Amino acid sequence: EDLDQGLEKTKKNFFGKIASSIAGKSKVDDEVLDDLEEILVSSDVSVETTLKIIDRIEERVARDKYVSTKELNGILKEEITALLEESNNEDAVDFEIPKVENGPFVLMVVGVNGVGKTTTIGKLAHQFKKKGLKVVLGASDTFRAAAVDQLKIWAERVDVPIVQQGMGADPASVAFDTLQSAKAQGADVVIVDTAGRLHNKINLMNELTKIKNVMKKVVPDAPHDVMLVLDGSTGQNAIEQAKQFTKATEVTSMALTKLDGTAKGGVVIGICDQFKIPVKYIGVGEGIEHLQVFNKTEFVDSLFK
Ligand code: GDP
Repeated sequence: EDLDQGLEKTKKNFFGKIASSIAGKSKVDDEVLDDLEEILVSSDVSVETTLKIIDRIEERVARDKYVSTKELNGILKEEITALLEESNNEDAVDFEIPKVENGPFVLMVVGVNGVGKTTTIGKLAHQFKKKGLKVVLGASDTFRAAAVDQLKIWAERVDVPIVQQGMGADPASVAFDTLQSAKAQGADVVIVDTAGRLHNKINLMNELTKIKNVMKKVVPDAPHDVMLVLDGSTGQNAIEQAKQFTKATEVTSMALTKLDGTAKGGVVIGICDQFKIPVKYIGVGEGIEHLQVFNKTEFVDSLFK
């Protein structure tokens, strides 16, 4: 329901434009396909992914000789679904955490400031806690005082312990403390917030590598998941950030925030297709419950409902 509402603007933008493009036309021709290409790109699906979708539809039109414009939405839905299926990203199951041998499960969260990293961590902590898991947060984003404060507010709201050393502390040292404390408390899951300054790729890479290495001293297989948080409402910027982060470190999952109220929801399709990294969660509002497990089929259904 939140998702349907959230995608309202994307849908309006997308299907409104398609509707006016095919108005008065009965056949899908080159002109319609050119329009569709433009519409997909302007919905932030990304050029690369748009071209794949258009190619597939062109093949179909060539094969079937005559495709009615009435079928266009249905065909588009089928091709987007197929493309997402091929991206082969397993959907997350509920808010489940895989069992790990030498726990706790360590989730390291990366992303630039302002994308909704702290909020996503808070919402996730809430969901994990609801499942009866023992959660500990680590404030390794020590670059900004506000980041530590914000995370602390979420820790209080969700009522989970937080490990912090304050602004300017060594992020790796905070991560070390967090994992040690979590282990001592018998925690199930640790969520470590890190600073994602993109000013310098080498610095970012070094900082994230250092944090990962220090984590391994406490939990040998940590981090079990490196989740990149991206702001879906920034469209192509989100894709750009994903490119930079995936170059700097091994990203194993993604969360896309602020899909409520944006017309750029198409970015989800481009991100799934281009990075082949599972999008696990989507943010659909500022509230504590406004985080959903991402499901490709549900997403496309919602988009085409
Ligand atoms: P951080 O700097 O990346 O940690 O970002 P914050 O978590 O502090 O979030 C920045 C702003 O985005 C805050 O005002 C959040 O309430 C807001 N925000 C985060 N996620 C969502 C979302 O899914 N939807 C909406 N509408 N706002 C969000």
